[in-house]
Amino acid sequence: MIHVRQYAVEGFPTKMGFAFPAGRFKQLVNSFDQIDKAINSLKENKEMLYKSHLGGGWYVTVATGYYVVNLRRFWVPPGTQLEVPTKAGICLRFSEWRELKKAVMEMYGDRKDLADVEPCNMSFAHQNLLDYLDCIECCPFKNEECENELRELYGLYN
Ligand SMILES: [Zn+2]
Repeated sequence: MIHVRQYAVEGFPTKMGFAFPAGRFKQLVNSFDQIDKAINSLKENKEMLYKSHLGGGWYVTVATGYYVVNLRRFWVPPGTQLEVPTKAGICLRFSEWRELKKAVMEMYGDRKDLADVEPCNMSFAHQNLLDYLDCIECCPFKNEECENELRELYGLYN
C-alpha cells in the first residue's frame, strides 16, 4: 500500500487522503501527463472536466471552478446508475500536486519493484474481456461509464 495523507500541524497523518495498492498507484502515475495537461487548460481559463478512473471506486478529476487535483472515491447509491463522490479522498492544491509528483519520482527511484508494477487493467489476465468485466478493480460499477471505458480499452469503437 502506498499512502498519501494530509498531516496535522502536530505532525501526525490524518484520515484525509488515501492508501492505494501499487498497481492502482501506478495508474495514477501513468495519468500524470494527462492531469498536467488538464491543469494547464484550467490555467488558460478553458472549460475543463477531466475524469480518469484509477481503480476500484477511485477517480482523479480536474474541473473548471476548482483549482485542485481531486483524488476521490465514488460510489453508486443502490437503485441508481449515477456515480457520486464520497468524503473519502483528498483535494491537492497545484503546489501540493507538484510536491506529490516529486515525492513519487523519488520513491520510484528507491523502489524499482513499485515503479515496475503494472496497473490491473494492463495485466495479461485482462486480455480476456469477461475477466476484465468481472474485475472489481477495473469495473467496480457495472454501468455505462465502465462499458465506455471498456470499449476504449479494447478499441471496440468502429
Ligand atoms: Zn482488473
